[in-house]
Amino acid sequence: MRELWQRSLLGRTVGNIIVITLLVGGLIMLAMSINVARQTEADAYRRLGELLDTVEDTVRVACFVGNEELAMEVARGLLRNSEVQAVDIRSDKGMLAHLERNSAEGKQAVFGSQPIHRNIVSPFENSTIVGNIALQPDGAAIDSLVAQARRQIALQMLLLIVAVAIALTLTVLRQVVKPIAELSQRLNQLDPAGGEQLAAPPGHEHNAFGLLTRDINALSARLVSALEIEQRLHFRHEVDQRKYRDIFENAESGIFIADALGDMTSYNRSLAQLTGLPLPAADHAAPRSLFALPWTDTAHLRQMIERCIESNAAVADDLALLRSVTPQRWLNVALTPIGGCMVQGIVSDVTSRRNAELAAKRAAITDQLTGLANRQGFEEFWANEIAKAQDQHFALLLIDLEGFKQLNDALGFPAGDRVLIGFAARIFSCIKNTDWVARVGGDEFAVVLPNIDEPGKLDSICQRILRVLGERFSVSGQETCLGASIGATLYPGDGTSLPALLRNAELALNDARHRGGQIWSLFNQDMRHAIEHRHNLANDLRLAVQRGELRLFYQPIVHLASQRVVGAEALIRWQHPTHGLVPPDNFIPLAEQTGLINAIGLWCMETACQQLADWQAAGLDLSLTVNVSARQIPDGLSPAKVSEIAARHGIAPQRLGLEITEGLLIGESHDALRWLDAIRSAGFRVYLDDFGTGYSSLSYLKRFRVDTVKIDKAFIRDMSQVASDRVMIEAVIMMADALQLSVVAEGIETAEQRDLLRSLGCTYGQGYHFSRPLPIEQFLAQVASIDGQAIPQA
Ligand code: C2E
Ligand code: MG
Ligand code: MG
Repeated sequence: MRELWQRSLLGRTVGNIIVITLLVGGLIMLAMSINVARQTEADAYRRLGELLDTVEDTVRVACFVGNEELAMEVARGLLRNSEVQAVDIRSDKGMLAHLERNSAEGKQAVFGSQPIHRNIVSPFENSTIVGNIALQPDGAAIDSLVAQARRQIALQMLLLIVAVAIALTLTVLRQVVKPIAELSQRLNQLDPAGGEQLAAPPGHEHNAFGLLTRDINALSARLVSALEIEQRLHFRHEVDQRKYRDIFENAESGIFIADALGDMTSYNRSLAQLTGLPLPAADHAAPRSLFALPWTDTAHLRQMIERCIESNAAVADDLALLRSVTPQRWLNVALTPIGGCMVQGIVSDVTSRRNAELAAKRAAITDQLTGLANRQGFEEFWANEIAKAQDQHFALLLIDLEGFKQLNDALGFPAGDRVLIGFAARIFSCIKNTDWVARVGGDEFAVVLPNIDEPGKLDSICQRILRVLGERFSVSGQETCLGASIGATLYPGDGTSLPALLRNAELALNDARHRGGQIWSLFNQDMRHAIEHRHNLANDLRLAVQRGELRLFYQPIVHLASQRVVGAEALIRWQHPTHGLVPPDNFIPLAEQTGLINAIGLWCMETACQQLADWQAAGLDLSLTVNVSARQIPDGLSPAKVSEIAARHGIAPQRLGLEITEGLLIGESHDALRWLDAIRSAGFRVYLDDFGTGYSSLSYLKRFRVDTVKIDKAFIRDMSQVASDRVMIEAVIMMADALQLSVVAEGIETAEQRDLLRSLGCTYGQGYHFSRPLPIEQFLAQVASIDGQAIPQA
């Protein structure tokens, strides 16, 4: 009960008020009691002083006259005052009266009371002291007065304290305790979630309680809204959990949670179905090991888990699982770190995707027609088998079918396909089962022959392949045969990388083709050097035009009957900075292959026209021919361009001849024929160069409009010994006569040849007999020298 009272607000407040009031009242009381004591004593002394005043005159008489009786009378009278203890009256002659109250009846004096002395002066002269009177105050009496005064004060103070305590208690009770109790009671009954608000105690709406009530209402509103949010979150969390549990249990993918050692703390039904694990028990009795499953590569899975935990990043890969029922099942395992050295895994069956990929991959590396590996397959085979095989020796063959393209064009693709299949089979029949063959191009096969380290061993295999491939066969009802060429290279002697070896084999194959085909050629470093040389030369040639390294040499063309120079052929030379003077046969084919021939051809045309203009200006009646490659026709040297150059230099078109070869006319390309017509229509003369070589046919002379035929020097060289050559020359001359064409014989080296040609009726000639091709500085002197030997004409 006491404790309850102490704990209750009212109890503590009242207790505190009483204690504080008593304390303050006690202190005030103490101060007042001291003050009252002093005041009472002072009053007693003041009253005794006044008593002395009343008896002073009587005492003066008694002392002046020395009357003891009077003195005694006064003393007795003074003693009647209860506050006087003793009285001494002295005259200058001695003690007059001494009276004293019996001290036994008084109490012990509290105050150490001091006697009050007063000197008595003569009634006649104030300066003469005739006696003195001493009053001893009665301490006990004064103490009794003081005690009485103190009691009064104490009583009053007590009353005051009680009154103040009551008043304070009532005030606190009314102003503080009661509103608090009311607030507390209302708070207890308040339902903030129901939207209720706390009301301030009546009469306290605008004081601290009003403020407190508003603060409580604001706080409770905040708490209510926080509570609502918390409830919503809790609800959502529960829904999510339920959802995730549903997903986990019903997911099609296998899901598990495992630690770094592969022990699964939980897994779902799908994982069990995918992997053959027992169905997950509800109580998750003992963890099951992921590594106990029959993975084909358990170490890889172990590494995946380690990597996932260490890097704290997701890891995924396909893993194969051996199963007793199905031969192999591919599972994609995607691991995600979930903290605490644990991973979550999602496992899905990707067997059909993997099988499809495998089939697609197999298709991508296989030649669908022959079933052999294709180029990609060959590269993979290389990377997987050959590149790994150290200390191996082997040969790489590239086999090219000759004439396959023409056969394909002639008989159609289906027949071509059958031929290719047949040839693949033939190649197969020539090699051992340790050898390897791929189709790396349309009609190109690659063969890898292990354990070949020297050309001797290669020869018999290559010869066998060439023989078998060259055998006759029948396709689309026709008996036919195709040849082949083989380029071979050796590993590791010739190179170690596939691109290098393929390049080598290609060079060797080109060599075999250039040497007529149907043979095999083994790569050697000269082939590579030749290619490199060609490459460097091509680069130099590109700069030669800009650097002005090209020159035109001029070889006179002579009228045979009169032996007078009628013109010249412009023949190009390349003044190479290191190789010296390079003849055209060494760079014109390269210029044709690289397309540089167009720039070179234009330069020749410009230079030749400039030369003609100079001769024209010098009054020389000379014509000039320029050689034109088939490659320049029609766009590299358009008729319009030729006309423009000639016109710019102010030369008559008929002075300029363009030498073309029969090759241009074969196939009778429309572009070439149009070009030919346009050139001749513009007034330029066209020469058919090197006639008799290649596909020469006299009918060409009839069919194509040219102005002059140049008989090739090979016929001239052999005409005195080879009758057929002479017959050919005669035929050309006769045909040209009939068609009104001019004839130039090339390569006249002797007077005998000159005379024979003259006798055959050949009009013009050209050759070392008259002059070699000369630089312009020497040319005119040579012309003058030839003309000097001219035969006077009738
Ligand atoms: P081509 O047009 O038949 O030129 C005649 C070739 O025979 C020249 O060789 C010439 O020097 C050579 N020759 C002349 N007389 C004799 C002789 O009595 N005996 C022998 N053995 N040879 C003789 P060159 O100058 O080496 O030119 C070779 C070929 O290069 C030319 O044959 C021509 O087809 C081509 N060519 C020369 N210059 C040019 C050019 O500017 N453009 C093009 N596209 N081809 C050119
Ligand atoms: Mg020529
Ligand atoms: Mg020629």
